[in-house]
Amino acid sequence: MVVQTERDDATWYECENCGLLFDEKSDASEHEQRCDDTEPSYIQ
Ligand SMILES: [Zn+2]
Repeated sequence: MVVQTERDDATWYECENCGLLFDEKSDASEHEQRCDDTEPSYIQ
């Protein structure tokens, strides 16, 4: 799941699976779809 978060006066989108931050929601959503299928230990 992608979580919207405010940091440094900017909006970020965080992957709940691995904690990666994205500045584009579309990037976060795309990552999250792949992240769901992979082991948590594998971080791109
Ligand atoms: Zn992820």
